[in-house]
Amino acid sequence: MHDHRLDRARAALRDQGVDALLVGPSADLRYLTGYHALPLERLTLLVVPAADEPILIVPELESARARGSGADQLAELRTFGELDDPVSLVVDHLGSQAASGRLAVQDRLWASFTLALQRAMPRADWVAGSTVMRSLRLIKTAEEVEALRAVGAAIDAVHARVPELLRPGRTEAAVGRDIAELILEDHDEVNFVIVASGPNGASPHHETGERELEPGDAVVVDIGGTRNGYCSDMTRNYAVVELPEGYQQLHRVLEEAQDMAVDAVRPDVPAEHIDRVARDHLTTAGLGEYFIHRTGHGIGVEEHEEPWIVAGNREPLQPGMAFSVEPGVYLPGRFGARIEDIVVVTTDGVERLNHRPRHAVVAG
Ligand code: ZN
Ligand code: ZN
Ligand code: ZN
Repeated sequence: MHDHRLDRARAALRDQGVDALLVGPSADLRYLTGYHALPLERLTLLVVPAADEPILIVPELESARARGSGADQLAELRTFGELDDPVSLVVDHLGSQAASGRLAVQDRLWASFTLALQRAMPRADWVAGSTVMRSLRLIKTAEEVEALRAVGAAIDAVHARVPELLRPGRTEAAVGRDIAELILEDHDEVNFVIVASGPNGASPHHETGERELEPGDAVVVDIGGTRNGYCSDMTRNYAVVELPEGYQQLHRVLEEAQDMAVDAVRPDVPAEHIDRVARDHLTTAGLGEYFIHRTGHGIGVEEHEEPWIVAGNREPLQPGMAFSVEPGVYLPGRFGARIEDIVVVTTDGVERLNHRPRHAVVAG
């Protein structure tokens, strides 16, 4: 699967009139080669010229890890010792492009490396790596959708077991540790666990803490991990023993908003339209001012990537785009609620990748 990606990156380079792409440890590197490189003070850099073979420059001491990932089958490995200058390897491989080419540097390469590369190639024209990578990562291939489907099913299975963990007197942190263990049953990594109980639910990215669950608490559980390189991200709402006052009605409106937004997903609809559908429904119900974030974000090898489902993003949705639809309502001092599923745009509509019921589940 990674082999074709390097070919597609080189095609994108030619389309964009860019001579080479330089990629350090990042989601882009994992996407292109499968190599999960450590972000070290020593340079790791994939060099992909439009018109020459790719090379992967790695510190000598990392070469075993690089080979273990299989990346050496895709790009020739060039290692350097502790006393060598890795930047000269980049310059050598780029040849005449180093002098006057147009070079794309991965958006999140550390400034220390980018500056060193720029010092060594002062006459090159530098552009952001996303110029090249965006078109590749934005549209998921059938294999990628399958990977997202599988990780979606894996996180569904975790949510199915959350109710048994929510009992009065348990802390958010204890519940969070149990959830992390459940995530690892069918994911390779835990990316985040948010357990936000009672008034803590009003903070969308609440740091799971020592608060003890009480009867009548609403609990927002937003969790995600990585499985075979692809991310899950899913939110459901629970209540301990009983629903808090005023919660049922609000949650029903939120379910409607999320349903309507998902139903609006189809090719050629602008991304911002999905946000507007959810927001309009909440606003009509008098809850608009409590919906304090965008409706969603793309997902793939990263938890948050394009497309952004937000007002102002007029980009038309296209088959293969995958993103979250996660409207939320946050009442300061009382509680919060958010419903989040991952969806993928199909040729004629939408496929949900999470399938658990969306109503609030009373536990404990
Ligand atoms: Zn978030
Ligand atoms: Zn989430
Ligand atoms: Zn999300």
